[in-house]
Amino acid sequence: MLDGDRITAVGAGDFDGPADQVVDGRGCLATPGLVNTHHHLYQWATRGLAQQSNLFDWLVELYPVWAGLDDELVYVTTSAGLGALALSGCTTAADHHYVFPRGSGDLIGTQAEAAAAIGVRLHACRGSMDLGTSQGGLPPDSVVESTDAALAATAEAIERHHDPSPSSRMRVAVAPCSPFSVTSDLMREGASLARAHGVRLHTHLAETVEEDAFCRERFGCTPVEYAEKLGWLGDDVWLAHGVHLDDGAVARLGATGTGVAHCPSSNARLGAGIARVRDLLDAGAPVGLGVDGAASQEAGELGPELRQAMLAARFRGGPAALTAREALALGTTGGARCLGRDGELGSLEPGKLADIVLWRLDGLGHAGIEDPVAALVFGPPAPVEAVLVGGQLVVRTGRLIHADEDSLARDLTRVSRTLLRKAGR
Ligand SMILES: [Zn+2]
Repeated sequence: MLDGDRITAVGAGDFDGPADQVVDGRGCLATPGLVNTHHHLYQWATRGLAQQSNLFDWLVELYPVWAGLDDELVYVTTSAGLGALALSGCTTAADHHYVFPRGSGDLIGTQAEAAAAIGVRLHACRGSMDLGTSQGGLPPDSVVESTDAALAATAEAIERHHDPSPSSRMRVAVAPCSPFSVTSDLMREGASLARAHGVRLHTHLAETVEEDAFCRERFGCTPVEYAEKLGWLGDDVWLAHGVHLDDGAVARLGATGTGVAHCPSSNARLGAGIARVRDLLDAGAPVGLGVDGAASQEAGELGPELRQAMLAARFRGGPAALTAREALALGTTGGARCLGRDGELGSLEPGKLADIVLWRLDGLGHAGIEDPVAALVFGPPAPVEAVLVGGQLVVRTGRLIHADEDSLARDLTRVSRTLLRKAGR
């Protein structure tokens, strides 16, 4: 039972009390709305490129294309990407946007508008890059900001768009991009900025062997040691990937409560490796799921990542490395912990926000599997009957309520073509 944007009661069986609206969930499994902890929605415009590249080669090919993005592209890709996420059971999405061409305006505000229109909660991670190739970084100088400009714009995004309330549908995090595209100064001062405003910190870390080699050569330490020196471990930090971690790094993430956004499909697509999810969970680190991408994980749907996470863990650690319920927990409570919202999101219990997914499990794909969580995680992607965010329907019988999928697809095709032509492709 729901009242306003909250859950007031949870139970099995028929409901026979008075209600303004009843959603029939027969044949369905109800779970908490899934939480996506890492994404780059603008990359929906550059899917299917650099198909055989590792991370660094892929980035070098794509940076110049991304340099042409604008306000319209960000609105269209945010709408399309959040629409795809909602249709796959996601009710809260973190997005990491780190390309801000000069004069492109308030792109975080544009993302907030698009998220409000689709109906999904957004955690906009205001990204930044200030280490161009002329200073030994990976991105071309044309796509980086100055350190001061990046910090000022991040502070402005927090002041304009961050809503700290428990029912919040829009939060902002401080998110310098990665060790090879950001100076130590921006990392250190970004952490101070975040803590002065009481917002969370997010960055990419320990994704590939090439990044590990970069950190050892430039900073004389591992990526996690580097993060710790800069004040970037703690229970207000979550890191994307965390694939290449030694035992000491796993222990430090657990001891400090630093979260990890596990992105198994993206890691597979770029051949980055398989994260030590079992070890991170055993060490006590919060671990959530991220679709990442969309240019490094063209699917962009969160529901299938439950299965992908289960498979990836078992590739690494054998058949008992991750259970179906643990995989579901990554996508729900684990994600809520990464975003600092486990007090109001991630489980179905009275007092929590009414973010709920009804998965159809009575079709051919799942019929006869008596354990519904095993059906959801081991089986094919389950059709979504309904998605509620704060008690309001966002998806009904597998269709978005507030947007037309065909027109989203047409708009996406148009902005993608425009961007590629601008880049001479
Ligand atoms: Zn990423």
